[in-house]
Amino acid sequence: MDIISTINNSISIVSRLREISKNISEAEFKNLLADLSNELADAKLQMAELKEDVAKLKSENMALKASRPEAKEKPIGTQWGCYKFANDDGLYCTGCYDSKGMKSRTNRVNSRFRSCPVCKTSIGS
Ligand SMILES: [Zn+2]
Repeated sequence: MDIISTINNSISIVSRLREISKNISEAEFKNLLADLSNELADAKLQMAELKEDVAKLKSENMALKASRPEAKEKPIGTQWGCYKFANDDGLYCTGCYDSKGMKSRTNRVNSRFRSCPVCKTSIGS
C-alpha cells in the first residue's frame, strides 16, 4: 500500500465526481462515492501505520543518541597521557576514545600510573 497513490486516487475520484455530477446516474454516483470512501479508509489506515513507524524510529533514534552522547565531543588536551574534556576534570583513556569514540574514565593506580577499567591499559611512566 502506498499512501501517495491512495491520496491521488481519492483526488481523481473527487474531480471525476465534480465533472459528471450534473448528468450522472445515481448508481454510478454511488459507486464512485463507495470507491472514494474505500480510498480514504485506506489512507487513514496507512497514516496510522506511518505514525507508528515514525514513533518507533524516533524512540530508536533517541536511544542511539543517548547511548553515545559524547560522540561529537573533542578532547581539549592531554594530561598524564590521558585525554581531558571541557568542563570535566576526569582523565580519559586515549585508546578507548581513539578506537571506539568511548569515554573511559581512568583510575589512579599510584603516583605514576593510571589504568583504564575498560581496555585494561596502564598509562604512565
Ligand atoms: Zn581504555
